Amino acid sequence: MSPSHDFGRFFLPGPTEVHPEVLAAMQRPVIGHRGPEMRELLERLEPGLQELFGTERPVYLSTSSATGLMETAIMNLSATRVLALVCGAFGDRFRAIAERCGRPVDVIRADPGEPNTARRLELALADDPGRWDLVTVVHSETSTGVLNPVAEIAEAVRRYDDVLLAVDGVTSVGGTPIRFDDWDVDFLLTGSQKAIALPPGLAFGVASDRALQRATQIPARSFYFDLLAFDRRAREYQTTNTPAVSLFYALDRQLHRIATEGLGSRFDRHASMAARTVEWVDELRANLGSEFGILALPGFRSPTVTAVTLPESISGTRVVASVKSRGFTIAPGYGELKDRCIRIGHMGDHTIEELEVLLAVIGEVIGELASGDVVSMEEGALR
Ligand SMILES: *Cc1c(COP(=O)(O)O)cnc(C)c1O
Repeated sequence: MSPSHDFGRFFLPGPTEVHPEVLAAMQRPVIGHRGPEMRELLERLEPGLQELFGTERPVYLSTSSATGLMETAIMNLSATRVLALVCGAFGDRFRAIAERCGRPVDVIRADPGEPNTARRLELALADDPGRWDLVTVVHSETSTGVLNPVAEIAEAVRRYDDVLLAVDGVTSVGGTPIRFDDWDVDFLLTGSQKAIALPPGLAFGVASDRALQRATQIPARSFYFDLLAFDRRAREYQTTNTPAVSLFYALDRQLHRIATEGLGSRFDRHASMAARTVEWVDELRANLGSEFGILALPGFRSPTVTAVTLPESISGTRVVASVKSRGFTIAPGYGELKDRCIRIGHMGDHTIEELEVLLAVIGEVIGELASGDVVSMEEGALR
């Protein structure tokens, strides 16, 4: 099957579908990373990246997946103790990284579908000021479809001079407005393969002056993931090491495509896809029963990923497999929620028309599973 044949069928909440034009851009010849051509390329990439992050600061390019920059945040920004805000699997990843990197860590945990609130953070910080030097939070929690109120969380952190805030924006950057400078956060990162819709393999991040200052005080802050090296090199339009230059070509092409659509239109498109998914779940509820729902609370729903909750009798893995057999890819619930949910990644370059086709297919599958048709069909095939 040609890639164009498959286009519009791959709705994982990361990696996301990559436009054929972007894939094709990677076929350009490799260039050296210390020459003038690389400098020119990096200079050209910067304004588009800055717009995605809402910043005038340099945007760092890391040849790693997003987890590499999560580790960068922990290694470079905490010398004492981390407070991890957790409302799902990726918030918990920040906790696990802190632990593995030898930083003591406390957790404020929200139930699946609920956000991390600024209020709970305020209470914790007021109760024991000075206990933590870094707070971590995930903006769009891909495992539950929750969008955390990062601006409010940043406001709470900013009342304490010595506390920094690191934000995982992996499924938010490129799908929803990010205001790094206005929110006044200290580090915000994303990966190439989610809402920016590039192939996997790159991560992007921005750091505040406070963050860079903190890194100077941490000698064992990692070599590959050294924030000061990222910053120094970025200001010279260079990279720290040999980068995945072919992916830079893809980024160049994709930033051009994003500029052509317009960032505002891109965000509107994501908001419409999320709204349409919510509406579709309302239709499921009306037709098939009240047990269908959306895991994330209203007011805290991510524009890029929706976790749809299912009745006991319908398993998420089952729905995903049947949808797959019809040529479309979605994800089951994450971790313990595997069979309780399905997750739809309506992000990147997908359109509302493509989403409409997908939702019709999922609706068909769910209709059959609810009436027992698919069960008997599959059992028949086994016999
Ligand atoms: C996918 C994802 C990650 C991990 O990204 P990798 O690129 O696989 O390292 C981290 N955080 C969130 C919110 C994600 O969705």
